[in-house]
Amino acid sequence: MTDMLRVTVWNEGRHEKTSEKVRETYPEGIHGAICGFLNAAEGIEAKPALLDDPDHGLTDDVLASTDVLTWWAHVAHGDVRDEIVEKVHRRVLEGMGLIVLHSGHFSKILKRLLGTTCQLKWREIGEKEVLWVTRPGHPIVAGIDDHFIIPHVEMYGEHFDIPEPDETVFISGFEGGEVFRSGVTFRRGAGKIFYFRPGHETLPVYRQKEVQQVIVNAVRWAAPVAPAMRFECKSHEARWFDADWGKTIRP
Ligand code: ZN
Repeated sequence: MTDMLRVTVWNEGRHEKTSEKVRETYPEGIHGAICGFLNAAEGIEAKPALLDDPDHGLTDDVLASTDVLTWWAHVAHGDVRDEIVEKVHRRVLEGMGLIVLHSGHFSKILKRLLGTTCQLKWREIGEKEVLWVTRPGHPIVAGIDDHFIIPHVEMYGEHFDIPEPDETVFISGFEGGEVFRSGVTFRRGAGKIFYFRPGHETLPVYRQKEVQQVIVNAVRWAAPVAPAMRFECKSHEARWFDADWGKTIRP
């Protein structure tokens, strides 16, 4: 065992193979950029996993030794094998944290966990986004003022088809007037889930310090606080408590 928080940074990694613009924006890959700032944070050890790795980089050993999984994907959600999605789903229920980023909203794993389509509106003209903190004091917004601005983004707008979140920690406004629930939390089984909107393969959003701070905060927030939950249904015999009760309470 290690005292470090073990994070697996999953990336489908397809844009990096096909787009010069994406390679310019993230020469180390989006996973490399995310691993970079996570590994610079105290107490966090982040390793990449890619769609094209064996078992998508999510072998049983990797999943068993992951405290928090981050998920970036966009064009290849359908290439993620269902059996791997099932294993990730199980690990979340057992207590593994999951941070889903940007276009990961359409991933099989998020739709499986939330049970909705996760549809939203979008527009890509590089407009400005203001993210407003709606839960001051929440661990995920530690170190963030009452808002921060990302100068150039792809817009995501409501309606975002998700269940009512446990907590909404950011709401975004865009130049076109749309709004969006940009930071939302859910709990499924023993696992904590955070969806965070910022990202995009051709914009240097993951270089921005506030975005990095929120993801670091979210990883710490989502870390399991107990050993993995085991789903064993052990039933007791009827009146199983009577023996002890009789010894200790009756005169
Ligand atoms: Zn995008």
